Amino acid sequence: MSDKLIVVAGAGGFIGGNLVASLRQKGYSEIRAVDVKPLEHWYQRFDDIENLSLDLNEKDNCESAARGAAEIYNLAANMGGMGFIEKNKALCMLSVLINTHMLMAARKYSVERYFYSSSACVYNGDLQHTSDDGDRFIAPALKESDAYPALAEDGYGWEKLFSERMCRHYMEDFGLYTRVARFHNVYGPWGTWFGGREKAPAAICRKVIEAKLVGKHEIEIWGSGHQTRSFMYIDDCMKGIELIRNSNVVEPINLGSSEAVSINQLVDIVEDIAGIKLERKYDLSAPKGVNGRNCDNTLIQKHLGWEPSIPLRTGLEKTYAWIHDQYELRERGAGGVVQETEVAYM
Ligand code: NAD
Repeated sequence: MSDKLIVVAGAGGFIGGNLVASLRQKGYSEIRAVDVKPLEHWYQRFDDIENLSLDLNEKDNCESAARGAAEIYNLAANMGGMGFIEKNKALCMLSVLINTHMLMAARKYSVERYFYSSSACVYNGDLQHTSDDGDRFIAPALKESDAYPALAEDGYGWEKLFSERMCRHYMEDFGLYTRVARFHNVYGPWGTWFGGREKAPAAICRKVIEAKLVGKHEIEIWGSGHQTRSFMYIDDCMKGIELIRNSNVVEPINLGSSEAVSINQLVDIVEDIAGIKLERKYDLSAPKGVNGRNCDNTLIQKHLGWEPSIPLRTGLEKTYAWIHDQYELRERGAGGVVQETEVAYM
């Protein structure tokens, strides 16, 4: 395998940690993993590679991270589920410093390839305020061109849209090889599962596990449960990153599952895995995001002949089992991964 240096920014988090694990499995040995969190709080850490705790909002730190790199994967951002991004818009927008300084550093050190993780939150919100068919909101499959005219998710989505364009102009103006994927809700083991930044699949797994273990008979659901989304298992995300990084696709491209489900259906699946049935209490005042969206995979099929395909049920079984183990470790005071809101990093 190549001995070129690969940098993973955001390596202490969910997707970055899984990416480092996957690169190691493929035989890459020259990896520099970077995250603002202290090393002992990284979700996954591998001691046979270089691990740096650096705040990538700072230009100098981005230069330290990028020096000597052949490739950079920028997965560092201040992010979380709706409960976090709706209440931390300024903090989410400040991630623009990370991508800006990383691009500048990539250019300075003539990095060969740069990958940026954007989000389905760039899509025009008007297209996602859909009507309810009685069981769930209609979930329009969003295609790449639906990001314009721009009306992104306020805060987090605007930052992603701006940073996507920055990647595009670094490619057009400075010849930097940039690739951009728009992730649609990624879930799986080694992710955030409690503390305020978790997303729906992890939050629902945790609530069902908790109800089962403490003998509760209720579950609280944010919104009406009719909101629709699609969820991509982490293994599909890893494969998609690799394919997009090597592709000729220079425009931002969707990376997500096209299996749309309502939040109620998500709860049905998790209850089925747990073997319980809970009474649902709907909190209509909780953050719930847009009504409905799905991922249009026409373009990824056309260019890469592939799309994420791991069934939600299969991915949720693995995620549920991992969160169950983490939950028990915490209850026993025996460790488990540290979750962001337990500690303030900046
Ligand atoms: P995560 O929060 O688990 O990981 C992000 C990491 O970035 C964290 O470990 C955090 O400490 C680090 N970070 C934040 N600010 C930093 C800074 N100033 N310097 C260095 N590191 C910093 O989130 P994730 O789910 O792994 O997301 C990875 C990327 O994918 C992010 O860009 C996110 O916006 C994007 N994304 C994720 C999803 C999803 O469903 N998980 C969906 C769309 C887009």
